[in-house]
Amino acid sequence: MNYKPLLGKNALVFGVANKWSIAWAVAKTWHEAGANLIVGYQGERLKKSVEALLSELPPSPPSLAFPCDVSNEQEIKSFFSQAVKHFPKIDLLLHSIAFAPKEALEKNFYETTREDFIKTFEISVYSFIALAREAKALFRDGGSILTLSYYGSEKVILNYKIMGPAKSALESSVRYLAYEFGKDQIRVNALSPGPINTLAARGISGFTKFLKECEAKSPLKRNVEAKEVASVALFLASDESRAITGQTIYVDCGYSILGF
Ligand code: NAD
Repeated sequence: MNYKPLLGKNALVFGVANKWSIAWAVAKTWHEAGANLIVGYQGERLKKSVEALLSELPPSPPSLAFPCDVSNEQEIKSFFSQAVKHFPKIDLLLHSIAFAPKEALEKNFYETTREDFIKTFEISVYSFIALAREAKALFRDGGSILTLSYYGSEKVILNYKIMGPAKSALESSVRYLAYEFGKDQIRVNALSPGPINTLAARGISGFTKFLKECEAKSPLKRNVEAKEVASVALFLASDESRAITGQTIYVDCGYSILGF
């Protein structure tokens, strides 16, 4: 890419697990557009794979990785204290994290336990607020915060269960954060892609049916690719989108416009 819209920008990216992660597609695109990267990964288990992915990137601009299991308040604090040594200020933050216990996705929705409800919301929603809060003071010249949602926030999607209400709460959190952060010119938005074959997606039973359904029925008659989500993330990270905040933007080949 000759045009470097993010040249000199500092980006924090959360949610890279492997090469199929949507967060990895965004990290690569932001890096190619000139951004310096720090990736926060879910604990030691992922250290090797995340470092191996980063080693594939050109050495400039720099890219680093530190652990950040968002269920651990101390780890969030220590991630930011490490990050700030490299980035005295930040411009971009991507939250691409979700989790629901397997049992909660297997049972009927009405059988969701208190424990599984709390866990799902802690990792999939609260972590977004927690990371945004830690980052807030570091956005010295404004910036852009993004998270990833899904259509199951609005409509009943087969087997999506507790993740549906979690994504509704995530999209609502986007609006409240956008409102409170707006005066500091920090924009907050969600991207809502159609189904993409990733580790998290394969946790939803019947996921391959989603892929087939979207390919057959979406106006564009195909599924979205992670790199197409990353293109929209590039737009939302750049000044070209400077008047957009508090939105959930569908990147789903048009599937969400369909009624009967
Ligand atoms: P993925 O499995 O590659 O990413 C999920 C990430 O969440 C992983 O990197 C995992 O390490 C991280 N995570 C889970 N628990 C964590 C914790 N305690 N601490 C830190 N990180 C933790 O799958 P993905 O599809 O790239 O998912 C990214 C986001 O995109 C999720 O919010 C997901 O709901 C959303 N999304 C995915 C699709 C899809 O079809 N793949 C569609 C719409 C939205």
